[in-house]
Amino acid sequence: MAKPPAQFCSFCLRPRTEVDLLISGHKAEICSDCVEQAHEIVHAERTSAPGKRASNELKLIKPKQIRAFLDEYVIGQDEAKITLAVAVYNHYKRINQAGKNKDDIEIDKSNVILVGETGTGKTLIARTIARMLNVPFCIADATVLTEAGYVGEDVESVLTRLLQAADYNVESAQRGIVFIDEIDKIARKGDNPSLTRDVSGEGVQQGLLKLLEGSVIGVPPQGGRKHPEQKLIQVDTRHILFICGGAFDGIQRRISDRLSRQSIGFKPQGKTRPNEEDVLQYVAPQDIKSFGLIPELVGRLPVVTYLSPLDASALKRILTEPKNALLSQYQKLLEMDNVHLKVEDEVLDLIVEKALEYKLGARGLRSIFEAIMRQEMFDAPDSGASELIITREMAEKRLAQSQFGSAA
Ligand code: ADP
Repeated sequence: MAKPPAQFCSFCLRPRTEVDLLISGHKAEICSDCVEQAHEIVHAERTSAPGKRASNELKLIKPKQIRAFLDEYVIGQDEAKITLAVAVYNHYKRINQAGKNKDDIEIDKSNVILVGETGTGKTLIARTIARMLNVPFCIADATVLTEAGYVGEDVESVLTRLLQAADYNVESAQRGIVFIDEIDKIARKGDNPSLTRDVSGEGVQQGLLKLLEGSVIGVPPQGGRKHPEQKLIQVDTRHILFICGGAFDGIQRRISDRLSRQSIGFKPQGKTRPNEEDVLQYVAPQDIKSFGLIPELVGRLPVVTYLSPLDASALKRILTEPKNALLSQYQKLLEMDNVHLKVEDEVLDLIVEKALEYKLGARGLRSIFEAIMRQEMFDAPDSGASELIITREMAEKRLAQSQFGSAA
């Protein structure tokens, strides 16, 4: 006599009576819940760790495409965008050419240094490029690095972050982008070797040099300080692109001095002496060197470009134009509650005025916008209204009640 089909799921063993649907296969059954779970596992497996799958093919993206992509997220900063687009294109051309070299022409690595006040978009540009290329990206803060043997982090910990961003896939990390912030803070203090040791200055610069030059570095998998028993992961930094950023406070004066010393030949755009604001566009490696970065390190950062301070009109554009602009983010959040958000133009002006007044630059826009929207975001979901209009009067009232209420 034939055996009746099993009346339970072969995966979770629940009986037919406890499941919605039981699907029969050859000598096995599966319930609808297990089908759904299996689907999720397959989906997660296919979409996770894109770096792992894409690690071998690096699609070359042309400078104009890179720039167009940057334009979607970053306002202004044309010089930096063009310079970086070319540097990144060349860098990845160099990687793709590695190993296929027939004519002995070695293309040098083009690490980049970005000079610009805080909040002008240095990190944003680096992050956006990494996102576009789909390569691992990490941000490291130069100020926490110290020479081996002192309190702080070893220089190699920078690569730990990159490994983490690459899910510890070494091959993928080796083509990543590292953004080292506040590089100006590890400048040599003064020209004379000082009596007190400069543990976070020149020593760290020497350490970074090793990374930037392109060599195989032993990286502690968990970061922090290396210790003798620890197993290190070997990472080859030859194809890692390093982008360093810094405010280089007061560099304008050094640039002006240099320009005025160049008595013969080059005169910037026919002017005798450009003003402080405009002078940044002439920033050159020798200015970075005179600021206190050692010549070897400057030599490894051959591409130097700048980001201008953001004026009121740029700040206003940042509120509305980028793909993930703050205004669009609030609109999207409220859309989920079926509320259409309209922010009057004068409110945007007010946010910009406050950001300038508090000298917060683009970094301040979010907290000011947040202060205006907080109560509205609290009330909107159950107000029943289908539209929310923020007027300048409302915004001023909200700001007066917030931390931005008192004058700067
Ligand atoms: P930096 O690295 O120069 O100190 P960030 O790139 O971290 O500054 O900028 C801080 C925030 O300010 C960014 O996340 C972004 O929201 C905004 N921002 C700054 N500059 C720009 C810009 N040029 N275009 C669009 N948004 C910007």
